[in-house]
Amino acid sequence: MDFETMKSQRRGLMIVLSSPSGAGKTTLTRQLLSENQNMTMSVSATTRRPRPGEVDGKDYYFVSKEKFSAMLDENEFLEHAKVFDNYYGTPRGPVEEALIAGKDVIFDIDWQGAQQLTQAASDDLVKVFILPPGMQELEKRLRSRAQDSDEVIAKRMSKSEAEISHWAEYDYVIVNDEVDMAMAELTAVIIAERLKRKRQLWLGPFVKTLVQGG
Ligand code: 5GP
Repeated sequence: MDFETMKSQRRGLMIVLSSPSGAGKTTLTRQLLSENQNMTMSVSATTRRPRPGEVDGKDYYFVSKEKFSAMLDENEFLEHAKVFDNYYGTPRGPVEEALIAGKDVIFDIDWQGAQQLTQAASDDLVKVFILPPGMQELEKRLRSRAQDSDEVIAKRMSKSEAEISHWAEYDYVIVNDEVDMAMAELTAVIIAERLKRKRQLWLGPFVKTLVQGG
C-alpha cells in the first residue's frame, strides 16, 4: 500500500459545535460542509416542530414524542437532551459508519450533548464553542431570522446565558464577529486536530521506511 493510501485511512474526528442560538453556527457549518467533502453532518432527531423551510431528514428527523422515547429505549442515541421544551438526540448508527469510513462528523448540539460525548471518553472528540460578539447582536440575529415569535425569541435569549456559561468546557472558543474570520479560525482548528500525532496512525510505518532509507 502506498503512503497516500495509508494517509487517507484514518478515523474521522467528531467535531462538536455549540453556541447560543443565533451565534452563526449554522452558517459556519454549511460553509465547512461545502468546503470539505470528507465531512458530514450528524442529523439529530427532535420532537420540535419544523420551522418554515426545514426539511425532514436534512435539518432534523422530526419525530413524535412516542417515537423519540422508543428510540431512546432501543439505545439508538449517542447522546440526548431536553432543550427548551423539546427533546433532541443524536442517532448512533450514521455517526459510527461515518467515522469508520474516515469522515469527520460535525455535531450541532448543546452543552448537555457535549458533556455526554465527553463522558463516552472519545479520542475522536473536538469541542468548539462559538460566541456572539455581543448580546445585542445575538438578539438582532435571532430577530432577522424572523422564524420565531417574540415569546420564543425572549426565551431563547434567556437560555443563551445558560448556554454561554458552559464555554469553559470546550477545547476551543471562537468569537463570531466576522464570519470569514470565524471560518478561518474554525478551519485552523480542524487542520491542527487532524495533524495531531496520535491521530496520524500511518506515521509509525512511514517513519520506519524513512529511517531505513525506504
Ligand atoms: P434548534 O431548535 O434551534 O434547532 O436547536 C436548539 C438547540 O438544540 C441548539 O443549541 C442545538 O445545538 C441543540 N441540539 C440540536 N440537536 C441536538 C442533539 O441531537 N443533541 C443535543 N444535546 N442538542 C441538540
